[in-house]
Amino acid sequence: MHHVGCVAMNESISIECPHCGESFSLALDVSEGSAEFIVDCEVCCRPMTVAVRINDGEIEGIEVVEA
Ligand SMILES: [Zn+2]
Repeated sequence: MHHVGCVAMNESISIECPHCGESFSLALDVSEGSAEFIVDCEVCCRPMTVAVRINDGEIEGIEVVEA
């Protein structure tokens, strides 16, 4: 995370863990465009691949699969 005083386009997204089924939220910079990354579940700590489709700063779809 950068703290340089510029306007970050952070969105909070809610994802559901494919392992344990718990949902948690994640901060995402939508100004970067579509992204795919691996995060560890906040509940069971297992990894998952999160693919986010972003068009013009708008989130169009979120896909979560086991990593
Ligand atoms: Zn989990």
